[in-house]
Amino acid sequence: MAARLITLFLLLFLFPLKAFPLSLYLPYKYPGTVGYFKLDSDLPAKAVLGYRGRKWFFRNLKGSKELYFSIPYFVKGNFTLTLYQGDKKLFLRTFPIWKKRYRISRIWVKERPLRGKLLERVKREGRLLRKVLSEITPKKFKETHLYPPLRRLIVTTPFGARRIINGKRRSIHWGTDFRAPRGTPVYASLSGKVVLARNLYFTGNTVIIDHGLGVHTLYAHLSKIKVKEGQSVRAGQVIGEVGSTGRSTGPHLHFGFYVQGERADPMIVLKERLQ
Ligand SMILES: [Zn+2]
Repeated sequence: MAARLITLFLLLFLFPLKAFPLSLYLPYKYPGTVGYFKLDSDLPAKAVLGYRGRKWFFRNLKGSKELYFSIPYFVKGNFTLTLYQGDKKLFLRTFPIWKKRYRISRIWVKERPLRGKLLERVKREGRLLRKVLSEITPKKFKETHLYPPLRRLIVTTPFGARRIINGKRRSIHWGTDFRAPRGTPVYASLSGKVVLARNLYFTGNTVIIDHGLGVHTLYAHLSKIKVKEGQSVRAGQVIGEVGSTGRSTGPHLHFGFYVQGERADPMIVLKERLQ
């Protein structure tokens, strides 16, 4: 602890804060919250923000650097953000993170064992999702708030719920489920480009939109997809209809929000100002 304080003191002494014209925005101190970091300086593009093993990369945007990050689900106690330039630590800031209780839900689904061709498909789709969601494109959305993905938001399963599937296997629910009748229009939450619009084994008919700076939204179990990969969309544009495709127990929308591949809590993000 003492060593840490001395390091912090030395860092502040060697690199006074005023040398870093930066703005940091973190509206809530819960896991799943999305924060924003902007650096008005000409630090090399290598600058990254880190928390333990996790790193978020800056993008150069007209003389400044900015990034979105999210407080990972597993953070307990303190969340320390460190700004690196190469291996050099330039600045750090610590936030106490409040504990959040997550619901435990039990679901029963008809499961086919994942073997052979099916297992191959699931693995291939997992790799595709990781690749698509970790892409960082420089062009950024213009909106300040999310457009709700449905006209009425009735949560059935929240983000972070621990699920017991068929009485045994546990998994974490990485999005928010909203109940809605089949055929209900689903809206794009921010402007961006459709980077995935296809059928996947677990999430059924799925749309992923890239909003720039590593921010992505995901819409799953759709009955109909109304956009094509590569297409640009605006916030509030209809991208599909609610359904129950993939592994699903009834018509609902599974809505996911990702920042540089890290999952965020959609209900927190829906309340936030994003820039
Ligand atoms: Zn879901």
